[in-house]
Amino acid sequence: MQDASFRPLDMIVAKRDGREHTAADLKRLVDGFVAGEVPDYQMAAWLMAVCWRGMTPRETADLTLAMARSGETLDLGDLPHTVDKHSTGGVGDKTTLVLAPLLASLGATVAKMSGRGLGHTGGTVDKLESIPGFSVDLDEERFRRQAREVGVVVTGQSKDLAPADGLIYALRDVTGTVESLPLIAASIMSKKLAGGAHSIVLDVKVGSGAFMRTEADARELALTMAAIGRHAGRDVTAVLSSMSEPLGRAVGNAIEVVEARDCLRGGGPADLRELCVVLASQVLARTGLPAARADVERALDDGSAYERFERWVAAQGGDVGALASLTLAPDQELVRAPRSGVLAALEARAIGEAAGLLGGGRARKGDAVDHGVGVLLHAKVGDPVTEGEPVATLYHRGGKGLAEAARRVRDAVKVADQAEKPPLVLATGLGLEG
Ligand code: URA
Repeated sequence: MQDASFRPLDMIVAKRDGREHTAADLKRLVDGFVAGEVPDYQMAAWLMAVCWRGMTPRETADLTLAMARSGETLDLGDLPHTVDKHSTGGVGDKTTLVLAPLLASLGATVAKMSGRGLGHTGGTVDKLESIPGFSVDLDEERFRRQAREVGVVVTGQSKDLAPADGLIYALRDVTGTVESLPLIAASIMSKKLAGGAHSIVLDVKVGSGAFMRTEADARELALTMAAIGRHAGRDVTAVLSSMSEPLGRAVGNAIEVVEARDCLRGGGPADLRELCVVLASQVLARTGLPAARADVERALDDGSAYERFERWVAAQGGDVGALASLTLAPDQELVRAPRSGVLAALEARAIGEAAGLLGGGRARKGDAVDHGVGVLLHAKVGDPVTEGEPVATLYHRGGKGLAEAARRVRDAVKVADQAEKPPLVLATGLGLEG
């Protein structure tokens, strides 16, 4: 029950006028909202005031802690070398599928929760569910047992962990208040803190397919999140990586699992492998486990990461036999290079939207996704292309969403006389220095 002296209106007015909140008031606001005592309209007004006025680092950390403690928190202290990874969201980002078994094969414990896709970005949970039988719905006992026995377990986001985030995010989504750095940082870090891992690597995406369009904004988000982690006694490091073109060549659900499988067997696209190697060695370095690039690459090349992937899939009820030939949608449409030259852009957001239009994503929470549809890129930025050569295949089901999806992919493809391959990893080790 709320303290009678607490008035959300005072907090709205204080933030509107640019004043700083105390930790106690932020906790009352968050707890009151979760309990249904602070109405949506007052929370929405406060969120908008935060968008305009911002928050100090101390306020952001206190808001995050209040959100992290708004429900249950997992204590993974009995498990060795617990690590977690978070990506701020991208197109073709299947790194969790590779990183989780890779890290487990190197001695870490990856016991994490992942989200579903929304808008133009995909979600790890949807990708995993394209493996027949794979369940992301595990109770805590099974979650812990699998973490101990297999070293890797991934479930959907629990409603019991950081419930304030789910409620606040739903309101932000419909009130134009998603794009606020302190609110994004608090949202992400509240889930990471409640999830219990000690060492956390954040993959902050920069570019047209990301929340953060500029490197400066991405760097600020990375540093803010790392500072929140430190404040809460966690070991957090951040990487900035490019999301101007999709990561790898596959965008969708089953099609991304196929690509992750290939990467876990030492193959797959170079950019996907590179990012996974960098993220793995960055977070392993925080645990004291062997973290050299060569150790990580060996696990991909000698089959140990793939072997762990199969054990993980089997432990969550997935059909390991089906991994060799996951079913994609039966119909295909090619998008061809408009002229000869060098591929200068593959606009990530548009390609993510195309995969969504084919049925692979969801416009609203709760929509069903088609696991078989998607986009496969045959060239990446910096590659030479010849007029008429296929640059993308769209896997579709009976033409659903095809006309608009094909238009987006055509518009996303830019060919020029010359183009440089842009750097993939823009910064590493962010947040350690503070
Ligand atoms: N991802 C989240 O989890 N929360 C945000 O606010 C933005 C991206």
